[in-house]
Amino acid sequence: MKTIAILGSTGSIGTQTLDVVRANGDIRVAALSAGKNITLLEQQIREFHPRIACIWSEEDAKTLRTKVADLPVEVLCGMDGLNAVAVCEEASVLVTAIVGMIGIVPTIAAIKAGKDIALANKETLVTAGHLIMPLAARCGVKILPVDSEHSAIFQCLNGERQNPIDKILLTASSGPFRGKSYEELKTVRVEDALKHPNWAMGQKITIDSASMVNKGLEVMEARWLFGVSLDQIQVVLQPQSIIHSMVQFTDGAVMAQLGTPDMKLPIQYALYYPERRFLAGERLDFAKISSITFENPDPDTFPGLQYAYEAARTGGSMPTVFNAANERAVSLFLHRKIGFTDIYEMIRDCMDHHTVIPDPDVTQILDTEQSVYERIQSRF
Ligand code: NDP
Repeated sequence: MKTIAILGSTGSIGTQTLDVVRANGDIRVAALSAGKNITLLEQQIREFHPRIACIWSEEDAKTLRTKVADLPVEVLCGMDGLNAVAVCEEASVLVTAIVGMIGIVPTIAAIKAGKDIALANKETLVTAGHLIMPLAARCGVKILPVDSEHSAIFQCLNGERQNPIDKILLTASSGPFRGKSYEELKTVRVEDALKHPNWAMGQKITIDSASMVNKGLEVMEARWLFGVSLDQIQVVLQPQSIIHSMVQFTDGAVMAQLGTPDMKLPIQYALYYPERRFLAGERLDFAKISSITFENPDPDTFPGLQYAYEAARTGGSMPTVFNAANERAVSLFLHRKIGFTDIYEMIRDCMDHHTVIPDPDVTQILDTEQSVYERIQSRF
């Protein structure tokens, strides 16, 4: 029986991971962790009986200890707690479903402890891909992508590892604002940005999808995961979200992975790789699909994608600046403190005022994140 641990079990990816576990019935959950949602974490502890549970604050941990005093679970908190979840002895796989750069340190600890990583947390590879990928190779652990696009590419590459990739075609739905102008984006509301046409996801990634910053983050991840150059990654709009991404090989053949937009597929594939299991849910009905269409991204309306390529090409600490500025700007937008296009302005401002650290270690990455937060706080 496979045993897993989950960072961020109460979020969109975390709960869907537990749906997959529940449906299959042959995966044990050794450790769970959440940020603030004590009620859901308690329910998860009662259903899945982990040995360790972690909630971020000490105060919440005290409350949770009282609530689950009848169960043999150790309740931890803070970064020590997240690290304990990550290296939990019984688990062979860590699912990183936590949001934000807080996921980097525990992910590194898990890799060093020999755990395979089912990777959803984008920030890990975006900011620390240059550390994570060589470390994973040295420790002999697998990085199994959970993001639907990267899982699609991973599936297209199955059995093709020796064959040179010509390019990766990373598909994007382009979110709810496809066809709008930059001027029109200035007045969109939080509610509009949270209405993704095809996917149900956590709030932060839904805003990132609407701004296309998410696609920029995915470009950076793809580069590390699949060892290709940035010039080999082309973003293609595919508004119906039927094709989840494609790989073109040097002979011109293009492999694509198609499916309904359901994150449980990539989650289950990562948990059971290379085995495929039955997954309940809708299937594509080609008799009903009238068309699958393609467009180029619109750089004038969505400059975040260009900024992402620029940050990735600059390298070093610049992807961290891009990510941290976006993270803080999205939070301000969600709290209705700034407009939608201010997200791009803040990223631009922080990138323009950063002195790049060429090959940052984890401390320098986290310090860079902090300095970006401080810049935004002092200026906006
Ligand atoms: P959510 O916001 O839905 O969930 C985030 C999870 O992280 C929650 O369990 C939250 O806990 C937890 N968390 C936040 N802060 C802390 C903390 N300090 N300590 C411990 N846990 C914490 O996000 P998603 O599930 O949407 O996304 C998670 C990651 O996966 C992101 O990096 C995202 O970009 C990536 N991703 C998501 C996809 C999706 O479809 N949702 C697709 C591909 C990638 P709590 O709720 O209790 O506060």
